[in-house]
Amino acid sequence: LNGYVGFETIPHQIEKKLLKRGFQFNIICVGQTGLGKTTLINTIFAAHLIESKGRLSPQDPVRQTTEINVVSHIVEENNVRLRLNIVDTPGYGDKVNNDRCWDPIIKYIKDQHSGYLRKELTAQRERYIQDTRIHCCLFFVQPSGHGLKQMDIVVLKRLSEVVNVVPVIAKSDCLTLEERAAFKQRIKDEFAFHNIKMFPFDNDEHDEEERALNTQIKNIIPFAVVGSEKSMLVDGKPVRSRLNKWGVINVENENHCEFVYLRNFLTQTHLQDLIESTSQIHYEAFRAKQLLALKE
Ligand code: GDP
Repeated sequence: LNGYVGFETIPHQIEKKLLKRGFQFNIICVGQTGLGKTTLINTIFAAHLIESKGRLSPQDPVRQTTEINVVSHIVEENNVRLRLNIVDTPGYGDKVNNDRCWDPIIKYIKDQHSGYLRKELTAQRERYIQDTRIHCCLFFVQPSGHGLKQMDIVVLKRLSEVVNVVPVIAKSDCLTLEERAAFKQRIKDEFAFHNIKMFPFDNDEHDEEERALNTQIKNIIPFAVVGSEKSMLVDGKPVRSRLNKWGVINVENENHCEFVYLRNFLTQTHLQDLIESTSQIHYEAFRAKQLLALKE
């Protein structure tokens, strides 16, 4: 034991501390009513849900708008606790005149940043600031097969400036696999053409493996998803599935849709990066801007 200091246990100490504290992950869902937002979220997380409540505390900024709902969940898996806030934005794009219908969404995201900043700047700041900053915006694209709507492009551009945007092709079982591939390419081309910057972002700190993973994810995005809250028996096992005109769609089968890719991305491979990018890129940009404005 000569010379042994013991700091090699730091990762373990940090892990224990983090596990005890639990993780906070906040997702906002944007897309027209009926595109399967609620269903998809339930398909991803419902199996591990241990507690849900409909609203945050009364002093939460959420209450100021009527168009935005927050549902808080606690999900648990092997003693790892994830506090999950799911923010729904009913009414987006549902009206005849959708002019500026995205304003409340952008405002909501910025309000969380400014709330966090305010708490950070108080002299007696709390040890752990409750984090309501949005880590991921799931943007639901209608499975039209044609391309993005003009409004989608405007909104995606605005959103991607303030939050990590992850686009999904909603209800992709409405498209054949060929239609789906063509639609996906079309959407990718539009993102490139309009210079919409999507998560994941390049980072000098990434190693070879992370870089390869991100290239893979960038190829898949937008995820073509199918959600279902019902299970059917396939080979004697219950699987989340939907019955449509072509037969049974097994939500968890990669040959049928990309639901599993999205779930792994959100809960396994990119959870930490979504949280870090929010604080290091989006929140940092907001913070710098606010503090500069204060100086002037
Ligand atoms: P929301 O308004 O966006 O939250 O949509 P919901 O989750 O309430 O879903 C609206 C309807 O679409 C429901 O009848 C769902 O069963 C159905 N639905 C949800 N996901 C899918 C899907 O992936 N494929 C198909 N074909 N229908 C879906």
